[in-house]
Amino acid sequence: MSPLRPALSAFYLRRPRPKEVRKLCCPNCGEAIEVSQKAFSARCPRCTHPLSIKDFDLEQAIDGELSTMGQVRLGPECRMTGNIHCAQFTNQGQFRGKAVVYGPIEIEGHSLTKGELIGHSLLVRPGARMLAKVSVGPKASQARDCPPVQAKLTNVPLHPPPLKPTLRLRESPVAG
Ligand SMILES: [Zn+2]
Repeated sequence: MSPLRPALSAFYLRRPRPKEVRKLCCPNCGEAIEVSQKAFSARCPRCTHPLSIKDFDLEQAIDGELSTMGQVRLGPECRMTGNIHCAQFTNQGQFRGKAVVYGPIEIEGHSLTKGELIGHSLLVRPGARMLAKVSVGPKASQARDCPPVQAKLTNVPLHPPPLKPTLRLRESPVAG
């Protein structure tokens, strides 16, 4: 066996570059899908369900609804009240509402989570405050609510606070 010449060994040692893919799970049929990390949209090869992929990195206060097949990260300064549909959810801030995640959920330390979490897996780091109903499993988020179609964020209160009555029409009877 003759040793490889330096130039040749360099050639043989070069490995193919890993493809940058994003692993998703079809919200409609559950099919595991791999799409390019650069793709903004895709279709499920099995059921042709359209997937809109956009990552959201939020630092502000939000009262509304967020839907995407990308990743959602609530930063330490983010306070969100509302509903989230996404493929991956990380909470580093404060979240109150319902998150349906077609993938992993990560709850970071010093974060606050109240409401309902549904996802494929859940990681809660020490120091996180959580008061939530949780459903976790590979099919937990399947066939829940309306699957996300458009990557969009609406910053509109879903449940506006009720108007305070200015005039009390009838006094409630006092017990006893
Ligand atoms: Zn599908």
